[in-house]
Formats: sequence, C-alpha cells, structure tokens
Amino acid sequence: MMIISVANQKGGVGKTTTALNLAFVYSQTRKVLLVDMDAQGNATTGLGVTKNDLKVTTYDVLINDASAREAAIMVRNNLYLIPANLDLAGAEVELVNVLSRETRLKVALEPLKEEFDMIIIDTPPSLGLLTVNALVSSDWVLVPIQCEFFALEGVGQLLKTVNLVKKYLNTNLDVLGFLLTMYDRRTRLSQEVEAELRAYFREKVFKTVIPRSTRVAEAPSYGQSIMEYDKRSPAAKAYNDLVEEIEERVQKQAR
Ligand code: ATP
Ligand code: MG
Repeated sequence: MMIISVANQKGGVGKTTTALNLAFVYSQTRKVLLVDMDAQGNATTGLGVTKNDLKVTTYDVLINDASAREAAIMVRNNLYLIPANLDLAGAEVELVNVLSRETRLKVALEPLKEEFDMIIIDTPPSLGLLTVNALVSSDWVLVPIQCEFFALEGVGQLLKTVNLVKKYLNTNLDVLGFLLTMYDRRTRLSQEVEAELRAYFREKVFKTVIPRSTRVAEAPSYGQSIMEYDKRSPAAKAYNDLVEEIEERVQKQAR
C-alpha cells in the first residue's frame, strides 16, 4: 500500500493531470483512491464528476469529521475519488484553529489503507495547510516540473517544506521523483530545463517525460483520463511508462 502526493506550489505545472492519469493507470491493476485537495476541483471535474451536486467533499473530511470512506465515490472500476469544490477554499483558513490541523487528512485516510492499494493526492498551488496535510499523509511526493522559463523557481522552497514535514510530522516521507511535463522536444527551452534539472537532481528525475499534447489538455473537458480519451497518444504511453518507472523505484527502495 502506498500514498503519493503530487505537489508543486507553482500553478499550472501539471499536478492534476499527473495525479489523475497516474490514478487511472494504477486502477487497471489495483484499487485506487484519488483525493482532490484543491478547491479548484480540477481532479474532480477531470474525472467527469459535477462539482455542484456533491454531498460529501474533502472539506467535510477535513473540517466536519466526515468519514473518508463515505466521501469516496466510485468513478470507474477500481477507481474512487474524494471530490472537492470551492468549499475547500475556506479550509485553509479554518484549519488554522482546529486541533491537529496538520494531521487531519492522515487520520481520516488511516482506515482506508486496508481497502485501497494506492492513494494519490492532488494538491493545490500553495504550500499551505492543505498541501502540508497531503505531505503528512504520504509515503512519497512526486514533483511535476513544467518545461518553461523559471521552471525550477520555488522548488527549493518546496523541498524545504518537504524536509520540515519529514523532520517534525512524517519521517516516512521521501521525494519519489521530479517529472518533466509539457515537454516539447523541438524547443530549446524544454531541452534546457531538462538539462538543468538532470544536472541538479540526477537520478531523482524520471527518465519518462510527459510530452506537450493538445489531447492531454482536451481530455478533462470530456471528464476522461488521457488513456480513455486517446490511448494511442504519446502522452498516454508516457503515463504508462511513468507507472513502470515508479514501480522500479519503489522496489529498489524496498530492497
Ligand atoms: P494548478 O496549480 O492550477 O492546480 P496544475 O499544476 O494542477 O494546476 P494542470 O491543471 O494539470 O496543472 O495543467 C495545467 C494546464 O495545462 C491544464 O489546462 C492542462 O490541461 C494542461 N496540461 C497539462 N499537461 C499537459 C500536457 N502534457 N500537454 C498539454 N497540456 C497539458
Ligand atoms: Mg491542479
């Protein structure tokens, strides 16, 4: 059983796309839960769930003591979602004054560890209490890096947060890897970002890169993963490859 947070406080780098598609690929072989920890609810909509008529959301799990199991809705075979909507925007502030504010999600997910083989958490573009809750709950953090100018800006701060969480709240936490997203082989910028990232983080950077593809950008508007929307696309293959690489990494670590 493992829990992976997908995090980077930089906005629009491919966190949700990665969390959702990883969850889908893993659901082909395991029982998976995707937790939407972002008030934008992009992971929720991206799997075809309408945000307006949600009964129980991540907000209720964090703030109202709702059961995570009851909040989880089945969205595909072996794929479950704890959905989020704008309610969650208030949680960041409300959490400040609640007891054990950093461990709310961890405690809520604890009873689900027997049922699910894999939990993936999509985090918001900030390093606030929602992201901290995700990190405290996780075995691993996967960091998507968009191939653009200033791609590495903020990564140092993210790693500082990860190390603080590791030191004080969750000694089990480790960086699973850095993932290059929206990669365009034809551009020098993509190659430069890649070179810089690999020089700095070396084998922590996944060999697999996620290509820039309009198909990936279109899929969420149909409420589908890229594997459902266009399973022959290079991006679908890339997310399948990523899962293989993650499995290799995790097994290496376990030895
Ligand atoms: P936020 O910080 O707002 O939560 P995010 O980090 O979750 O953003 P995404 O929502 O996954 O980022 O992606 C940002 C935008 O880029 C979306 O419109 C998404 O469809 C698009 N996108 C993501 N990955 C790719 C890709 N490989 N090729 C093309 N477009 C992509
Ligand atoms: Mg997102």
